[in-house]
Amino acid sequence: MTISFDQLIEEVAVRVKANMEQTFEIEASGRHVHLSQEHIDILFGKNHKLLPTKYLSQPGQFAGKERVTLVGPKGVLHQVVVLGPARDKSQVEISFTDAQKLGVRAPLRLSGDTKGTPGIMIMVGNKHVILDEGLIVAKRHIHVKEQEAARLNVKDKEVVKVQVMSERPLIFDDVVVRVSPKFETFMHIDYDEANACGFKSGTKGRIIKKD
Ligand SMILES: [Zn+2]
Repeated sequence: MTISFDQLIEEVAVRVKANMEQTFEIEASGRHVHLSQEHIDILFGKNHKLLPTKYLSQPGQFAGKERVTLVGPKGVLHQVVVLGPARDKSQVEISFTDAQKLGVRAPLRLSGDTKGTPGIMIMVGNKHVILDEGLIVAKRHIHVKEQEAARLNVKDKEVVKVQVMSERPLIFDDVVVRVSPKFETFMHIDYDEANACGFKSGTKGRIIKKD
């Protein structure tokens, strides 16, 4: 079958557009902690309310003004941001590079899945709490707004690959899709991953379906 040059151009344009529509923005999450109200009370004072300084892409989530220090057997990390609002359980999300600095082993987990993970000491001034568990390296994931799941051709809990469309392109495997009406569509990676793929603000990704 032969097609004309114009038909070819049209065909390419259609495919490019389809690919464009399956893209989404990526965000790099720095190390941070989520705290229970009980731990907020200990570290910042009874009934302290976290003070939002910047709202994040996921509705209701914010970076607080509050900062903590993480204390490990080999090192400390200062000025770690507290994200709000308060959660039922405290959780600390660091990168593998951070784990080396602290001298701890942190397992790769999805946020909220902290059963059996190590703890860590969190300090503010002369106050501290020691978590029994909750130290993780967050597993990369895509938040998909329910209404956009069809456009991206994905289902909740599906595992996909993501091609990062950056100056230093990289295909990430083992990316977990989470679909909810409460989400806005963004992929989250940590700073180790961001550096590996040359991430810049506005970098986009594209889903590659697993066979
Ligand atoms: Zn996320």
